[in-house]
Amino acid sequence: TPLLEARTLTKHFPLGRGAVVRAVDGVDFAVLKGETLGVVGESGCGKSTTARVVMQLIAQDKGEMLFDGEIVGGLSLSLKEYRRQAQMVFQDSYASLNPRLTIEDSIAFGPTVHGVSKQAAILRARDLLVRVGLDPARFAARYPHELSGGQRQRVNIARALALGPRLVILDEAVSALDKSVEAQVLNLLADLREEFGLTYIFISHDLNVVRFISDRVMVMYLGEVVEIGPVDELYDDPRHPYTRALLSAMPSMDPDNRTMEAPLAGDPPNPINPPEGCRFHPRCPQAQTVCAKVKPVLARTGEGARQAACHMEVAGSGHSRAPSLEAA
Ligand code: SF4
Ligand code: MG
Repeated sequence: TPLLEARTLTKHFPLGRGAVVRAVDGVDFAVLKGETLGVVGESGCGKSTTARVVMQLIAQDKGEMLFDGEIVGGLSLSLKEYRRQAQMVFQDSYASLNPRLTIEDSIAFGPTVHGVSKQAAILRARDLLVRVGLDPARFAARYPHELSGGQRQRVNIARALALGPRLVILDEAVSALDKSVEAQVLNLLADLREEFGLTYIFISHDLNVVRFISDRVMVMYLGEVVEIGPVDELYDDPRHPYTRALLSAMPSMDPDNRTMEAPLAGDPPNPINPPEGCRFHPRCPQAQTVCAKVKPVLARTGEGARQAACHMEVAGSGHSRAPSLEAA
């Protein structure tokens, strides 16, 4: 059983006058126990909305999620219990910390809300500070503004772990950190995953970082999954033209040149009224007539567990093909 299974998750935001942002549009994926699933794609692709729906910070319009086989919000897994088991760390290290609470009180807050005694919650908070590399004697009584960004993110990780979750969603969680601090926090996350048997969904615009930390990677474009598969296969031999374009624009490890700017030609993706057929077709160098008419489905491609949504891919062969005319 996967830890999390998302089935046709859909979240649209109406803008008025009939315009709709199709932020997440029928997304299917599974997160296996103990793995890190990286999620990549340009801004506007639906990564963060997917994360917020998975966390149930916002409700989906359609679709459902299964957590360890139970329907989230169903009879045997209440939203309250699910929210204990799934935690999130955001890019903004101030976002989840109350500025008027000390670090240890911030970490202890969630457990006390869930009925843990204050004393036990504080002991657990101090233990977690040790696990994230912050000496409680120096940090427990400090306030968020007295910490560096990297230290605050360590506190956020401790806070996320305080309820003993099984799934942690990291949405650009290291993106605001300096490169050296980022590397330390990534190593910490990898250690904690082992130590606590965690499963991660790791969202980032930084393809190098995603490659470093992920077991599998999911590529999103305009609210849809276009490719998903084991990290090395996907990076070494991307099957979807969008994945290829994204990776070919991948910046080097040079810290002065690490942001992904203008990765692709053509109009930037706009989730309001996305194109018919394959949503990537206006920018796709391989586009054929069929692509503007028929939406490709996510299907197996290549040798392993890889899936891509492209008319040019044949299930099982791993080779490109000419588009089928009947499909049009
Ligand atoms: Fe390009 Fe067509 Fe494949 Fe879409 S379906 S990625 S337009 S080749
Ligand atoms: Mg985002």
